[in-house]
Amino acid sequence: MANQEDKFKKVISHAKEYGYVFQSSEIYDGLSAVYDYAQNGTELKNNIKQYWWKAMVQLHDNIVGIDSAIFMHPTVWKASGHVDAFNDPLIDNKDSKKRYRADVLIEDYCAKIENKIEKEVTKATKRFGDAFNKQEFITTNPRVVGYQEKIDTILSRMGSSLEKEDLEDVRNLIDELDIVCPVSGSKNWTDVKQFNLMFGTKLGASADSAMDLYLRPETAQGIFVNFLNVQKTGRMKIPFGIAQIGKAFRNEIVARQFIFRQREFEQMEMQFFVRPGTQKEWYESWKENRIKWHLSLGLGEDNYRFHDHDKLAHYADAAADIEFKFPFGFKELEGIHSRTDFDLSSHEKHSGKKLQYFDHEINESYVPYVVETSIGVDRMFLAVFSNSLVEEELENGSTRTVLKLPAVLAPTKAAILPLVKKDGLPEIAKEIVEDLKWDHKVIYDEKDAVGRRYRRQDANGTPFCITVDHQTIEDKTVTIRHRDTMEQKRVAITDLKSIIDAEVSMKEWLKRI
Ligand code: ATP
Repeated sequence: MANQEDKFKKVISHAKEYGYVFQSSEIYDGLSAVYDYAQNGTELKNNIKQYWWKAMVQLHDNIVGIDSAIFMHPTVWKASGHVDAFNDPLIDNKDSKKRYRADVLIEDYCAKIENKIEKEVTKATKRFGDAFNKQEFITTNPRVVGYQEKIDTILSRMGSSLEKEDLEDVRNLIDELDIVCPVSGSKNWTDVKQFNLMFGTKLGASADSAMDLYLRPETAQGIFVNFLNVQKTGRMKIPFGIAQIGKAFRNEIVARQFIFRQREFEQMEMQFFVRPGTQKEWYESWKENRIKWHLSLGLGEDNYRFHDHDKLAHYADAAADIEFKFPFGFKELEGIHSRTDFDLSSHEKHSGKKLQYFDHEINESYVPYVVETSIGVDRMFLAVFSNSLVEEELENGSTRTVLKLPAVLAPTKAAILPLVKKDGLPEIAKEIVEDLKWDHKVIYDEKDAVGRRYRRQDANGTPFCITVDHQTIEDKTVTIRHRDTMEQKRVAITDLKSIIDAEVSMKEWLKRI
């Protein structure tokens, strides 16, 4: 695949062609930044959610899960700070009439400098061969050090200006860096303005009695307002966590990059309630736990990195992102935030209800501190899907497209294929489907030559193809073909379940965390 852009286009078209993701309302030409998950995409998405839920809720005896409503009392969003501070800085180009996020323009500028660093590293790797020490190179090579200093200076100035709400300085920075509009190529910019990302709606039938509501922009607040209910009814002792998976809505200014930035998306969030003063340890421990979860899926260690926030949100005393190498570069996949007691204290003030915990160990009541892990299901989907899509050169010179999804997440675990559509082979194949379907999502496919069926399943991400041939009638054996190695083995039908189990069982994968 030639370059990043081509690779990304290929990801998007593959997602459509193989029934993973469709544009919403496509017959009406779609709706910007809204997508539908198709038959295979829904299975993959459900498997991702299950993998997270089991890792969080099932494997931790001090974490429980809830499912709170999307609509919440409007004061929730006042208390959380979203009404006043959930803004993105936007800027328009007067020539192209295109709208951008000012911070993203600056970050993209820095990403270009970062590409230069990567080029220097690649050159040096070639030059020095085995003796190359990357860490030493990037900390001592004058050109690379200069690039890095430039990035740091720009980002820290942007961070502090945004924190101080000094939008004029953000605009000045764009001018000073000579950033041009990618569409018009001009520097004819408007001032930077704040734009609230929440979608408003109304509850109630008549215009005068209707109440202004918001579609929730994060699932976390549904956890905070239920903190005491869960703590009391579950008799939870601190430290404990509440997890939730659900939809969130944001009126994103610039919505591009496919399902990476949508206006309706899904989050998997966990709020961990701790004793004040211990938040730093828990923050570090959750950072470690979450990166292990990611690494357990085998997408490659080099594709992840931590990024500490330069600009802390109003509620946080420490925050980091786990970034993933998407086809368009390293971008945020998950956030880990030490949220202090900001949310619970603020809900105490606005609701007039005490949201405290009596800690028997120290005989004290307090508002717990919170460490949050927050990951977008859709971004996780894109990370898994884009990383798995590869084109392989085969020994005979041909190529195959294969979606090397982690077997535990693959929508279909096995395809059962009769070699020919006669001689009783379809009947045996269907019997195998009937038998395996109780444990795994499997499909039957008899159309086209078997080689083409293999290719189809490779492109669909199915880890196993099981072929029934004439020998099956004689000795009740079949061939099982592995997607990634294309290796084929003859095995007894009675062993199929355990062979598939060994490779797709969530338990085995989760044990790697
Ligand atoms: P970004 O800086 O990319 O806008 P954010 O910092 O606003 O993201 P958070 O508020 O920390 O994101 O949300 C937690 C997670 O929710 C993110 O790490 C991401 O995976 C996911 N997420 C946030 N916004 C979107 C979106 N518009 N579309 C899809 N996923 C999203």
